[in-house]
Amino acid sequence: MNYSSLNYNSSTVSFLEAVKKGLAPDRGLYFPEKLPTLSAEFISQISSMSNHELAFHAIHPFIGEDLTEKELKTIIEDTLRFEFPVVPLTNSIASLELFHGPTLAFKDVGARFMARCLAYANQKEKGEKLTILVATSGDTGGAVADGFYEVEGIDVVILYPKGKVSEVQEKQLTTLGKNITALEVAGSFDNCQDMVKTAFIDVELTQHINLTSANSINIARWLAQMFYYFIAYKNRPHPEKELVISVPSGNFGNLCAGIMAQQMGLPIKHFIASTNSNATIPNYLETENYEPQQSIPTISNAMDVSDPSNFIRIQKIFNNDFYKLKKFVSSYSFSDTKTKKALRELYKNTHYIADPHGAVGYLGLQEYFKEVDETNHQGIFLETAHPIKFAPTVEGTLKLKLDIPSRIEDLMKKPKLSIPLKDYKALKKFLLER
Ligand SMILES: *Cc1c(COP(=O)(O)O)cnc(C)c1O
Repeated sequence: MNYSSLNYNSSTVSFLEAVKKGLAPDRGLYFPEKLPTLSAEFISQISSMSNHELAFHAIHPFIGEDLTEKELKTIIEDTLRFEFPVVPLTNSIASLELFHGPTLAFKDVGARFMARCLAYANQKEKGEKLTILVATSGDTGGAVADGFYEVEGIDVVILYPKGKVSEVQEKQLTTLGKNITALEVAGSFDNCQDMVKTAFIDVELTQHINLTSANSINIARWLAQMFYYFIAYKNRPHPEKELVISVPSGNFGNLCAGIMAQQMGLPIKHFIASTNSNATIPNYLETENYEPQQSIPTISNAMDVSDPSNFIRIQKIFNNDFYKLKKFVSSYSFSDTKTKKALRELYKNTHYIADPHGAVGYLGLQEYFKEVDETNHQGIFLETAHPIKFAPTVEGTLKLKLDIPSRIEDLMKKPKLSIPLKDYKALKKFLLER
């Protein structure tokens, strides 16, 4: 499989090259040259396959000759080391819990897969040391740090805004040590992001060190997110009903992976792109005008994105056909007030404690069920993070105290190791002098 840039001004590259580059040289996103299709035979066998087998079949056509089957299987076994339970809440609504990984958010899957692919790429070329440079507003940094922890030949440098990530998130970024360094920036997430962007175009710097990014536009992160849609299909509580999946969306990478699986042939009838008040896409689907604004801060802050970078890939999957896109995807936006109400309703009616992102996904299903006959549909919303990651909001809204999951109890006791950082000059100095 080859990948071309969606700016159409760079040469095509193989899977591992696209993983190493992240963005194409013309700043476009990589996209596979053709969409594979799943055979009817494979689809009929899904219910008897293991998660590892499913993941292998889903992604194998995207890899080409870059990894042997054995290497790919090893990477998948290493990536999917935790469960993806589908929890039925009502007769027509279930939650797909994606937070059982090491950093309690769905980003673990993509980050772990990408880390292992890069490690292979590096090994094959007996490459020099790679440095992953990433800015985070919270969840990405933790997943990347954990995914790359102790991966040979790769150093990770994470920039995060001081005082603007949650306590759990900060611990996940700053306590690992070894090949992971956290830089605490006195500024906003945008300041962190700007410094990272500057570093990538700083020739003086890139001549001396091998820099790579690990953000969600990387194809290894994007494509690995297909895995759990196959798992959701396998474990859907009512196989006789039509499957509808609601994806709480920010940068739209997660949804894009689901749509990819669907267009390859996985029988998912419809997708719902559920957003918080950052409503660029719901507005677009209504008016056909794409008009990003300043992003608005919300309680589901991992989705505070107004110009989602992966949306262009979704358009491409549908050959830029607006009406085809609308046939398969609905999109709704929900305020923080509605999100809190949904958290309370879920807890009261089903004893389920969702996180604010999952609650937005739940609301998307409810909205869709106003348009179709609910009894014929199996709705699944993606529960993208563990509620403890957003403890102040969840505890405040539900008036309860969350238990700390045993797997992060130790984490919370570890000392924070971070280096304060003022500006780009200091970042450059740090990177060159390590
Ligand atoms: C990143 C994130 C999202 C948004 O995912 P996208 O792929 O960017 O749309 C939703 N929920 C949580 C908890 C996240 O960390």
